[in-house]
Amino acid sequence: MDFDYGPEAKAFRAQVRQFLAENHDPEVMDPTREGMAQLVDTPARRAFMRKLSERGWIGMSWPKEYGGSDAPGMFEYVLNEELATVGAPLIGKGVGIVGKTIMRHGNERLKKEFLPKILGAEIEFAIGYSEPNAGSDLAALSLRATKTEGGWVLNGQKRFTTSAHFADWYWLAARTDPDAPKHKGITLFLVPMNQKGIEVVNMPCLAGERTNEVFLDDVFVPDDYAVGEVNKGFYYISEALDFERFTLFTVSAFVKKYEALRTYLRTATRDGKPMREDPEVRRVVARLATRIEVCKMHCLRVIAKAARGEVPNIEAAMFKLWLSQTAQEVAEAFITLAGPDAVLRRGNEHAPVDGRFENYFQYSVLETVGAGTSEVQRNIIARRALGLPVQN
Ligand SMILES: Cc1cc2nc3c(=O)[nH]c(=O)nc-3n(C[C@H](O)[C@H](O)[C@H](O)COP(=O)(O)OP(=O)(O)OC[C@H]3O[C@@H](n4cnc5c(N)ncnc54)[C@H](O)[C@@H]3O)c2cc1C
Repeated sequence: MDFDYGPEAKAFRAQVRQFLAENHDPEVMDPTREGMAQLVDTPARRAFMRKLSERGWIGMSWPKEYGGSDAPGMFEYVLNEELATVGAPLIGKGVGIVGKTIMRHGNERLKKEFLPKILGAEIEFAIGYSEPNAGSDLAALSLRATKTEGGWVLNGQKRFTTSAHFADWYWLAARTDPDAPKHKGITLFLVPMNQKGIEVVNMPCLAGERTNEVFLDDVFVPDDYAVGEVNKGFYYISEALDFERFTLFTVSAFVKKYEALRTYLRTATRDGKPMREDPEVRRVVARLATRIEVCKMHCLRVIAKAARGEVPNIEAAMFKLWLSQTAQEVAEAFITLAGPDAVLRRGNEHAPVDGRFENYFQYSVLETVGAGTSEVQRNIIARRALGLPVQN
């Protein structure tokens, strides 16, 4: 069996690397934040995404009839790997969650209005699923959509909506039928973020990241901006999450962090002795090296299944779980091995490896929460792969 990406994907990777070298821009890319969230929140980053679009790299995996090039999903994954490695924003929510759902289930008006703008990198979305009492158990969401003439009126609260403070449109899930079983009374809507009645409140969180609470007070949405069939939203959300887990978590950027740890250990000393000769250090690094090889294999399994046109649900759960837990181990290993200096922030002259690990140590906690917590991934594996009963 050949554990590889294949020659076409390798050639594409080389093209992307060349493009990124030619378009290096410190306002867009931060190589010390490889693999961490880089939002399309500034004019420079928006302009960069438009350059990707001009190359035909936004929506490559979309069918030709919608302006894509029918490329296998692996190409999008490779693109994201390279973007993450230089600390640039990734192609994400618009192409994956929003675009793919509209293509499959949206009405003609939504297709006409949103798909070209997504391909042209002209539009940014915020995803509003989580609420104060709905996260892992998303079907418990209670933001209410009440039917009125020509549309719906939304009232309630979302929590943890990343990007809400700069996005153009809000892709949100609301309860349209409170009497139906909880998975069957939810509908997806598209709402302009500047619509009257929407208030966005900053929620600063770990690692200096920003997410938001969003309050909706009598926000009107026309019927045409309900996505797909009313009350089928939960089904569409589950389908799209499988796309998200596939493209949002990349291996290469995180391998680069592990390489930074190794580079540090090659020359670092403790009590006058090279750390690389310390049996405990060698044990830790060998363990991480093995875990990283397993990450790569999980990733290739996801890619292989997607390439066969199947949904890599269990594989993506295993990949996300293993990758995010290993990411934590890498960050923790650095802090433990490098000692007190490792907790110094970037900018401090004594901080090893430019102080990258202080921030990454915090960030690696977020990775085990976003797009489904580790416990949720384990539940998916237990239920779908092993057939074990799981209580929700
Ligand atoms: C930085 C950040 C950005 C985010 N961005 C967005 C966004 O843009 N849009 C959005 O909609 N959401 C976003 N989220 C929300 C994220 O998806 C949820 O936080 C996550 O799904 C967990 O839900 P919760 O916070 O309600 O925790 P809970 O579901 O209340 O979970 C609490 C704890 O209980 C565990 N748990 C829950 N259920 C089970 C179970 N059945 N079995 C075992 N253990 C369980 C969880 O693993 C967790 O440890 C973001 C979160 C963070 C931290």
